[in-house]
Parts: sequence; C-alpha cells; structure tokens
Amino acid sequence: MNIDIQKLLRPNILRLKPYSSARSEFKGDASVFLDANENPLNPPYNRYPDPLQHQVKEKIGRIKGVPSDSIFLGVGSDEPIDLLYRAFCVPGKDNVVAIDPTYGMYEVCADINDVEYRKVKLDTSFDFDPEQLLAASDKQTKLIFICSPNNPTGNSFSEEKIEKVITGFHGIVIIDEAYIDFSSYPGFARKLGSFPNLVILQTFSKAWGSAGIRLGMAFASPEIIAVFNKIKYPYNINQLTQEHALKLLDRNEERIDWVKTLINAREKLALELSGLSYVEMIYPSNANFLLIKVDNANELYNYLVNNGIIVRNRNNVTLCSGCVRITVGTAEENEELINTLKTYKTTVG
Ligand SMILES: *Cc1c(COP(=O)(O)O)cnc(C)c1O
Repeated sequence: MNIDIQKLLRPNILRLKPYSSARSEFKGDASVFLDANENPLNPPYNRYPDPLQHQVKEKIGRIKGVPSDSIFLGVGSDEPIDLLYRAFCVPGKDNVVAIDPTYGMYEVCADINDVEYRKVKLDTSFDFDPEQLLAASDKQTKLIFICSPNNPTGNSFSEEKIEKVITGFHGIVIIDEAYIDFSSYPGFARKLGSFPNLVILQTFSKAWGSAGIRLGMAFASPEIIAVFNKIKYPYNINQLTQEHALKLLDRNEERIDWVKTLINAREKLALELSGLSYVEMIYPSNANFLLIKVDNANELYNYLVNNGIIVRNRNNVTLCSGCVRITVGTAEENEELINTLKTYKTTVG
C-alpha cells in the first residue's frame, strides 16, 4: 500500500513553521557560544543540550541496526505516544484503534487530545484477529496501537498477524516493544525499511534498567521522525539524561546479562507460584512480569500491601478479572514475595 504521510497529518501540523532554537540553526564546530543567552559562569550544565541527541542516537543505531535519522528520542515512551496523537489526529474528529486490554497510556493520551479510542477485545487466549482490528477502523482512523509483548497479558503476537494489520491499514501502526528484550520474538526494528507506516516504540525503562532517566525511543521512517522533531519541545532530552544514556549504551553486555537473570527468575517464580493452591492460572510471559489469576485478587492484593509488597491489581481490567500482575524482582524480593504468599491462606479467610 502506498502511504502518503503528509496527507495523514493534521492540516495545522502540515502547515506548521517550527520553533528554531539557537543550537539547531548552527551546524559545525565553534569554541565561543554567545547565541543562546546561557550563563557562562556555571559549567557543565549551563549549556542547552543537543536538541537532536546525535551522539546518543548514533550509539543506539549501532546496537539496534537502525539509522540515526530513523530514531526519535522522547521523555519516556509517553512523549512519542502523545506526539502521534498531536501530529495525526484532529481532536473531536479522528479516531484510533487498539487491542483491549493493553497499556493504559494510549487511552489516556486519546482522552487528553479529545480523540475517539476504539477498543477491540482480545480473545480468551489474549490473541487478536487482524481482520477485526481493520474492520474497527474507518476513514477517520489514523493510528492502530499493538503492544507486543502486551501489557498486562505478557504474550507476544505473531509477526504474520501484525504484518497483516500494517499492510492492510491506510494509517500509522504503532508496535509498542517496551518488553521486546525479554521476548522470544525478534521484534520489528529489522523490518523498518519495508513498512513506511510503522512506528516502533522501545524504552530505557525496562530491560535497560533506567526508568528514572525518562528516555524512550521511537523507530520509524525518516519522514515520520521528521514530523516528531518538528513538533517536540526543542530541548526535550536533558543533558543529564543524554550523558547517562551514553554511558549506559556502553554496557550492552550487562543489559543482556540482566535480561537473562530476569528471565530465569521469572521462570523460577512461575514454578513456585504454581505450587500455591489459590493460584488458578499463570499466563505465559514474554516480558519481565507474570499475570496470574487467583481466587480473590482484591483480597490477595490487600494482603500483600499490608505486608509491604506492592503488585498491580488487574482485577477490573478487561479479560483479567481475578488477576494480579507481578513484576519480576531481585532474587531476594521474589523470595520474600513467595514466603509471604505461602502464609496467605493460613492467615486470611
Ligand atoms: C513500561 C511501558 C512503557 C514504558 O514507558 P516509559 O514512558 O518509556 O517509561 C511503554 N509501553 C508499555 C506497554 C509499558 O508497559
């Protein structure tokens, strides 16, 4: 399918003349910077950061096999999610489609931007039918969100099904790969060149162990990346975050070890949970968390809170009644959780 990204854009964004910062107008080398009204007396954080984060993108590009001009960096994944709405969806007119249940931010951003959010319920195996997603869309549908591995269900979707959505849709398809490092699937970054309407979201918050620095990545065609760059806050990624990311990206081997450790811990945790009488189901996980179904999720949640352990109660989420979501912690944390869970039925009810 031939996709004209410019035609998909909101007319005001297409027309927009973006803010041009001092640091983005100048290109090349210099030693005296008198262009941005900074205070020269308090280095090193007195200077504005690189608005396009060239060094960070180059390192990410080498690890991910994605060219720099196909990378956008945002304040968490939250930023590219919001920018997608602001770039493509006319408030009160356009709509988006997403699987249900999934990550809550897609709907919150839709509500903030006054964009209709259409949910297509997964089946009881937490899987979707591409035809159903496409059937839920119409001329005013600009975005389709697919999260794989999905949060909170933990499963990955088949590449073939995802590709059917990408190739069958006239708008932008977003694959949120926040948990891709924990997955047995390779992810879509390697196929970026084949799909001009694809946006892949990844993050430093999970496998990279850096939720505190608020850094998210979007991979897409240079044309879509240029749209994000046009409408983002000029200096969205601060200097401290960029410096942290540059050091972090040199520790890729460690990240791979962290992922192995957490996957092993996830499997051990699943085994131990399966020995508890009130655990009815442990859903297969391709992520760093487990979704489990218990006989009384609210009661179990409160019991754990009273014992200083916080899990995510998903009891009121579509298809997740009776479920809690448990993030894989350190060996010590997981052991404390299991020990507390073992005393649950003897102390409550
Ligand atoms: C945790 C998570 C993210 C990460 O969000 P950040 O804003 O990058 O911290 C993105 N998508 C999903 C589905 C998540 O679960």
